[in-house]
This record gives sequence, structure tokens and C-alpha cells, in this order.
Amino acid sequence: MTATRLEVDTVILGGGVAGLWALARLRRAGYSAVLVEADRLGAGQTRCAQGIIHGGAKYALTGEVGAAARMVAGMPARWRACLAGEGELDLSAVPVRAAHQVLWSPGGLGARLAGFFAGHLMRSRLAPLEPGAWPGALRHPDFRGRVWRLDEPVVDVAGLLEALAGLGGGCLVRGGVEDMSAGDPCTVRLPGLELAAARLVLAAGAGNAALLERLGRRSPAMQRRHLHMVMVRGPLPPLYGHCLGTSPRPRLTVTTHEDAQGRPVWYLGGQLAEAGVERDEAGQIRAARAELGALFPWLDWTACQWSTLRVDRAEAAAGGRLPGDVFCEENGNVITVWPTKLALAPEAAARVEGLLRAGGVKPGARPDPAPGLAGCAVPDIAPLPWLEEERWS
Ligand SMILES: Cc1cc2nc3c(=O)[nH]c(=O)nc-3n(C[C@H](O)[C@H](O)[C@H](O)COP(=O)(O)OP(=O)(O)OC[C@H]3O[C@@H](n4cnc5c(N)ncnc54)[C@H](O)[C@@H]3O)c2cc1C
Repeated sequence: MTATRLEVDTVILGGGVAGLWALARLRRAGYSAVLVEADRLGAGQTRCAQGIIHGGAKYALTGEVGAAARMVAGMPARWRACLAGEGELDLSAVPVRAAHQVLWSPGGLGARLAGFFAGHLMRSRLAPLEPGAWPGALRHPDFRGRVWRLDEPVVDVAGLLEALAGLGGGCLVRGGVEDMSAGDPCTVRLPGLELAAARLVLAAGAGNAALLERLGRRSPAMQRRHLHMVMVRGPLPPLYGHCLGTSPRPRLTVTTHEDAQGRPVWYLGGQLAEAGVERDEAGQIRAARAELGALFPWLDWTACQWSTLRVDRAEAAAGGRLPGDVFCEENGNVITVWPTKLALAPEAAARVEGLLRAGGVKPGARPDPAPGLAGCAVPDIAPLPWLEEERWS
């Protein structure tokens, strides 16, 4: 059987939030683009994300009220415009799990808190909350801390993947790359399909390293930072927020989701997940029980089930630290992108488009590839971790 051959402006490899946002943005701008996903949409980091649209709180906690914090400061507003159907993409169908998060201190904190509030950026983003407005999980006479409202929405990641896939307009293909080259044009061969593109966009998260190697490239270099997340399900009240500790990172970050039967699941990140990479699953669950028992002694944990999830963040190499920016770099018709954060996907996509335009790739020159892709396998959406029932046994 002869393969279908299509000429496009760009082929995007990877259907996580970075690739999907780029596809939607490029299509909206009139570019002819195809996204190739090897597995399922969001299968890497995106399906494991907490869905927080960071506005800089995490960065300010580390004292980095400079570049990194400024970079993300505009993200909540940019996403809110999209979520309202008025932004660069129409994401009005995406459920917002929480319009705002909270930041809480369990009490007795010293310099870290003072430094945090000294940052101008944070002063403008935080509002102290009266006890009546606290989330139910913190509303207890024994809670001695303080609570602020934080201007960071939390989106439903499954809904986000679905909406972005819809904006891809039939230009998504599932398949393993058999062969690829970075020339003029760049070529990508899948079973039954050959794509020739002015630019190749590598948006494959941790998969970018192997793709670069296949192209015979040693750079850009990638880093992985490990996490050991915890999930706990049971009769828990909804909570979205960061707990302040004495370390530069949030002591605990909690988001709330539902399992396949609609039961609440708390998904726990922050320092617990960072320090937990050294622990085995049983040790990590013990640590989580101790942490939640200390922070919420008034909640009943006896009926809860526990599970953990190991996952890596894949980013441009930055000495093992959080990179200070979106990474988006072009090298001989190949653009490599790591958004660094889900929240930064709009910025990453804007930079991809900027590189296309700067390189003279103009929209409108090539036809919409969707009709030519009609017979190709379409990637479905990866299940979120707490929906995988086998994790709970
Ligand atoms: C536990 C956790 C929680 C997080 N929480 C948040 C949060 O709350 N807020 C936030 O802003 N950020 C968060 N992040 C960071 C965020 O998830 C990532 O920055 C973002 O999802 C990266 O998206 P991506 O598209 O670059 O990569 P990925 O989501 O990893 O997607 C890469 C895709 O490429 C595909 N792929 C791989 N190789 C190939 C290939 N050869 N060909 C084709 N396709 C390929 C994969 O199957 C995958 O679908 C979190 C990260 C983790 C790990």
C-alpha cells in the first residue's frame, strides 16, 4: 500500500499540553499543522499535572521574585480569558475545578513568610481570608494558622486535553515515528503516512531526548526531576492550595479530584512529593499519613485509601533546578519546546509561532491537512491517574 504524502508547514511530535496548545494556536493562525502522538494525548506529564495555573506563588516562596516569578505572573489572566472564551483559544468548555486556590500557614512560621509577603508580586495577588470564607478542610477550632486567597485557578486536566484536542480540527494522528529527518523539508514517516514540513516541532516532553538523538543531535540537553506524588481517596472536603512550611518549597500542595465512582481524591504534591522520591511506596504513604495527620488532625483518615505515583518532570537542562523560562529554541528547521509548566503552555505556543514567522514560514501557503488524514488512527485521551482503579488495590 502506498503511503499518503502530505506537505505541511509544521509537524508537531507529542500530544501533551505543549504540543496540543501549539497545534490549536498554529491552526487558528492559518498554519497547516499535524500533531503526531505515539501513545495517548497527555500520556506523559500532562495527565499527572495538578492543573494549577501558577501565578508565581511557588517561585516567590523560594525568594525568586525575579525572572521566574515575573514570567508566570501573567498566566492566570491569560488562562482566565481563554476559559471565558475570550482569549487566544476558546477553552470555555474546560471545567474550572477552583477559581482560586488558598495559601495557608499552619502557624508559627518565621522569616520565610515575611520574605514571601515582602515581594511586590505576591502582595498584589494575595488577599487574607476571613474564617467564614476558609475551605471546609481548614474550618476547625483547632486550626491556629492563617489563610489567604491566591489568584491561581485550577483547571480540570481531562477537560483541558479534550478541548485542546477538539481545537486540533482533525489534524491529530496516533502512531510511532518510523523514520524522520531534519532537512528542507523535514520529513516524518509513520505507517501509511509521510509528512513533509517546513519545520519540525519537538514537543514530546521526556521523549524529546530520544527524538533529538534520532536526529543525531546532542543539544538542547534535557533534565528530569523526579516526583513521588500521593493520592488519598475517602470522605474528604474539597481543597485546593499550598501549605507554607519552613523550606523554600510549599510543604504540601493539595488539589481535589474524583475517582471513577465520583469519590473525592486528594492529590498531594509539594515538598512531600519532592522529598518522597527517596522513599518506597509504603514509606511515602507513611510520610503522607503523618503529614496529613499533623496538618488536619480533625479529619478522619481511617476510611481512606492511599496510592502513590512516581513521575518525572522533563525540562530543558538547568542544573537540576526549575528552569527560569519556557524553553523554545530553533536549530536548523527543528524547534524543541519544553513549556516547564502546564500553565506556561500558551507562552510556549506563542514562541513556536514566533519562530515560524521569524523564519519566513507564512500561514496560508499550504492546504489544511485534515482531509488527507481521514483514514489515520486518532489518539484518544490518557486517563488521569486517580481514574485507574488498579492503582487503588
Ligand atoms: C506530578 C506533576 C504535577 C504537575 N502539576 C502542574 C501544575 O499543577 N501546574 C503546572 O503548570 N504544571 C504542572 N506540572 C508540569 C506540567 O505537567 C508539565 O510542564 C507539562 O505537562 C509538560 O507538557 P509537555 O506537553 O511538554 O509534555 P508531556 O505532557 O509529557 O507530553 C509529551 C507527549 O509526547 C508524547 N511522546 C513522547 N515521545 C513521542 C514520540 N517519539 N513521538 C510522538 N509523541 C511522543 C507522549 O506520549 C506525551 O503524550 C506538573 C508535573 C508533574 C509531573
